[in-house]
Amino acid sequence: MNMIKSYDVVIIGSGPAGSLCGIECRKKGLSVLCVEKEEFPRFHIGESLTGNAGQIIRDLGLAEQMTAAGFPDKPGVNVIGSLSKNEFFIPILAPTWQVRRSDFDHMLKEKALEHGVEYLTALVKDVIKHEGKVVGAIYKKDDMEYQVRSKVLVDASGQATFLSRKGIAGKREIEFFSQQIASFAHFEGVERDMPPFSTNTTILYSKQYHWSWIIPISPTTDSLGIVIPKDLYYQECKNPEDAMAWGMENISPEIKRRFRNATRTSTPESMADFSYRIEPFVGDGWLCIGDAHRFLDPIFSYGVSFALKEGIRAAEAIDQAIKNDDWKTPFYAFRDWSNGGQQIAADLIRYFWIYPIFFGYQMQNPDLRDEVIRLLGGCCFDCEGWKAPMIFRKAIEEYDRKQMVG
Ligand code: FAD
Repeated sequence: MNMIKSYDVVIIGSGPAGSLCGIECRKKGLSVLCVEKEEFPRFHIGESLTGNAGQIIRDLGLAEQMTAAGFPDKPGVNVIGSLSKNEFFIPILAPTWQVRRSDFDHMLKEKALEHGVEYLTALVKDVIKHEGKVVGAIYKKDDMEYQVRSKVLVDASGQATFLSRKGIAGKREIEFFSQQIASFAHFEGVERDMPPFSTNTTILYSKQYHWSWIIPISPTTDSLGIVIPKDLYYQECKNPEDAMAWGMENISPEIKRRFRNATRTSTPESMADFSYRIEPFVGDGWLCIGDAHRFLDPIFSYGVSFALKEGIRAAEAIDQAIKNDDWKTPFYAFRDWSNGGQQIAADLIRYFWIYPIFFGYQMQNPDLRDEVIRLLGGCCFDCEGWKAPMIFRKAIEEYDRKQMVG
């Protein structure tokens, strides 16, 4: 086995979490290697961005490039309930975009390269440990294995949850929203709303965990996702194509109307078991960010913005850990910050699925409306003392208590 080099930080995966963590670590003067198994650009799901994500992208200086890439502006999210009743609109918190992830992730990677992050296209296979501490990784390239040393190894491997699979981080635990399968594809010729709302995200639902997204990701292409419970998928569908057809027929007549003249331009794919959490997700010489430790339910499009935020916040923790030669204080602070924000988002999503009609009313409640818009814009980590999160949590606790008694 060949020994290559030593870095302050080695990052596994170059999605939004890995790229942002790399950029922020470089700003702090740390040396960074990012190891990504795929050649970019590569397909990825997760195409609608929150206002918080939009702000981070502007802070990176990428606004002009986003527009030049043809990513549509996102005015907001239109949520349409069963049989097209119970409709409500969520305006965005700050200007943001809908994206084709292959191009967006590539743009972030290029930005990281500009900041001096070194890149390798290779598969990380294992970790190197010394006296209980993680001190590096083993990766495979062209059938050869190499070692690289790190002061901190960052798992940004997304749903691959690399450090969990290696037994370094905890086991993947199923969360509330787990038993769903998402099937998705891209289409041309979809009927859109009139401007300025033609590039909204549209969420359509029929009942709990039966829903669909329509996201315009370019001037002419729309992403359609159909999410249904796992049991139903295996009962009614043989493949992702069946699931798409089932969703078009059964979730909302609005989907059929919008897609009546549309042509599919990509092969439908499915993803199952995408909701989980992992504890612990920090330790001596390592931490996990983004989907590598937790993913909720994609209904409110939190994934990319949480991955970006965690990448930035993790870089602060890593810098402190290296400077002070103490991982516990900064990494536990990162863990608590992350858990706090993720839990508020989880409460919001659960509240929506338990009380979808009340959720729509809360959007109109003048006492809560502003806070709910901010929470949906990604501010789940910055809402200490707000009323809305407490109201949602109380309602969920009451619901769980009744379920236990009943
Ligand atoms: P990823 O973007 O998954 O990046 C991980 C990278 O690690 C990949 O490039 C992978 O190739 C690489 N990797 C993995 N293992 C290794 C290895 N061993 N060695 C080297 N490289 C490795 N989010 C939104 O914001 N908006 C949405 O509309 C939205 N819709 C979604 C719909 C569905 C059905 C699902 C499941 C998710 C959705 N998400 C959405 C979530 C979003 O896709 C993720 O939260 C986001 O991509 C997480 O970013 P990340 O950087 O943590 O991981």
